[in-house]
Amino acid sequence: MTIREAYSMTVKRLSAKDGDHAARSEARCLFEELFGLTRLKMYEQASRELSEEDEKKLLDAVEKRIQGVPLQYITGSWSFMGRNYLVGEGVLIPRDDTETAVVTFLERIKGRNVSRIADLCSGSGIIAITLAARLPLCSVTAIEKEEAAFAYLEKNISLNGAENVVPVRGDIFVCHKDIEDGSLDAIVSNPPYISTAELAELQTEVRFEPETALDGGEDGLDFYRCIAGKWLAKLKNGGIIVLEAGESQAEAVSSLLKSNGVDDIRVTKDIQGLDRVISGTKK
Ligand code: GLN
Repeated sequence: MTIREAYSMTVKRLSAKDGDHAARSEARCLFEELFGLTRLKMYEQASRELSEEDEKKLLDAVEKRIQGVPLQYITGSWSFMGRNYLVGEGVLIPRDDTETAVVTFLERIKGRNVSRIADLCSGSGIIAITLAARLPLCSVTAIEKEEAAFAYLEKNISLNGAENVVPVRGDIFVCHKDIEDGSLDAIVSNPPYISTAELAELQTEVRFEPETALDGGEDGLDFYRCIAGKWLAKLKNGGIIVLEAGESQAEAVSSLLKSNGVDDIRVTKDIQGLDRVISGTKK
């Protein structure tokens, strides 16, 4: 099979699933990620035969994609704010929404003396690693409970040379006990926040992602209750907290923070104009 034939086969098979437009962009992404063939290279080498091995790789990938496996799990990596991260089964795929949390965090700490940060439910480590790169003098403790996700966190730390990120395997409902009260300058988190009812209705792709990274309990707020109830004590007075949340949770999360001693609460919208991040200062 030539590259031209392989490309058109890929587009044809993927369009049956998602329509022509999505299929073309996914096909290009697969060729680039699997074979290092950019669009231009693909065009230049259109009549070259794919090796048997590459042909098999491609057919496997297309088959998986048709089954609904997220593109990011097939290519094995994804980028977030200019850095590359390894992803796969067992870890949440980076979402663009999370940029809002990172940008809000950087805004809120401006002009403050911040040296110790904790990222709770760190997953692939996108938040911790981006912050660590932007704030090279800070130490970022990245806490993740799940074994598979933790392995990705460790790999992504070394892939990105993030020496100031300290990965800690732990459950945030428990491991707060190991961290001294008043010892953190800032806390950031994008915890699981989907409610049990919503979880059942997610699109096929999301069902391939780990439930533990999505399931926020009955009303989706379990992790915010834990953070407000147990983690705010770890912050210094005047410390900053920044939480990503679901689009309809800003009010509930704000009031949890408020009733646990957080001031100057702000809600930041994501690029789609949805309430996405709640931040504040500990009194
Ligand atoms: N903090 C990680 C992210 O933003 C993982 C979040 C999660 O697993 N809920 O992608």
